[in-house]
Amino acid sequence: MADPSGRLRTASSWLPETLTLIVPDESQAPEASLFAGNLLLEALGVSDRALLAPHLERGHRTRGAVLFRAGEDVSYVTFPLHQTAVTLVSRMRDGRMVETATVGHEGAIGGVVSHGYLPAFSEAVVQVSGPVLRLDAERLTQAKLASPSLRDLFVRYADCLLAQVLQSVACNAVHPIEERCLRWLLTFQDRLGTPVLPVTQEMLAEMLGVRRTYLTGVLGSLQRRGLISVRRGQITILDRPKAEQSACECYGKVRHHFRTVLGAVYAENGAIVAVDPTQGHD
Ligand SMILES: [Zn+2]
Repeated sequence: MADPSGRLRTASSWLPETLTLIVPDESQAPEASLFAGNLLLEALGVSDRALLAPHLERGHRTRGAVLFRAGEDVSYVTFPLHQTAVTLVSRMRDGRMVETATVGHEGAIGGVVSHGYLPAFSEAVVQVSGPVLRLDAERLTQAKLASPSLRDLFVRYADCLLAQVLQSVACNAVHPIEERCLRWLLTFQDRLGTPVLPVTQEMLAEMLGVRRTYLTGVLGSLQRRGLISVRRGQITILDRPKAEQSACECYGKVRHHFRTVLGAVYAENGAIVAVDPTQGHD
């Protein structure tokens, strides 16, 4: 996979989508528009952007695409743009899988916690199709070494991602399915920024690690309480304040961590609209 030039890459066989190389203009500071759509990249200062800009590749990922599987070397860091969402899942031997974290435009997947080119522990699956930027994991490692501020941002993000995973473990062990379901839907909404979520029941059952027939009953109960409405291929959060009250504490705890450690800024509708580590610690 390694490219001797380290710069020019074309679409690889394992990634069917077209990748467009962004040709940098060395004479100018990187355009803000290059980073638009991913809050982590948008939070970078001018000099940090200059470190990454020449190596970013824009692409599109469709639902179900696997960015990496457990045991595979993570050769790229993927930054979801706008409403693209990716989940980290743990897959069991019998094929069942459970979501451990969902990442949208507030974050990045692969080589975030570790350096790149180390085997992945979990699997990353695209849940909402859309545009992404990707970066050779080694380039990110080098940029972290060169820039304390860039390293700091990614360390803070890694801490938030870990918080999401740790809370997910605790939540799965002790909280009722209805509360877990609301936590998942609210977390998803924060990343997509829309009350109408493109979620199939099959997908949600997989994420929560329950049978689909069981989930149907859970969704029915949440509908009767006026919290959500369910249509084919989509779930709408009807009453967000009530849904937040009814979700388990895990939702608020993780959100608070994103706010204090990463400086995540949340809009009134719950969506994460910016990250700014200089604004955290409240
Ligand atoms: Zn919980």
